[in-house]
Amino acid sequence: MKCSLCGYEFDISESSSACSSCPMNKSCTLLRCPNCGYEFPKEPEWLEKLTKLFKGKKNGRINS
Ligand SMILES: [Zn+2]
Repeated sequence: MKCSLCGYEFDISESSSACSSCPMNKSCTLLRCPNCGYEFPKEPEWLEKLTKLFKGKKNGRINS
């Protein structure tokens, strides 16, 4: 996973441990960036692949 706010790359397991103090832990589908604490919804796997495909083609200019 890559944080869309600060660009920090982290593992999903890292994120879930960061969210263990979340009161909605059981139903929480958000990922939290261990670096800046920004929370965002998890991308579906197909969307993640699609994003990588586009980023590869457009040389990563979308999020910059
Ligand atoms: Zn972040």
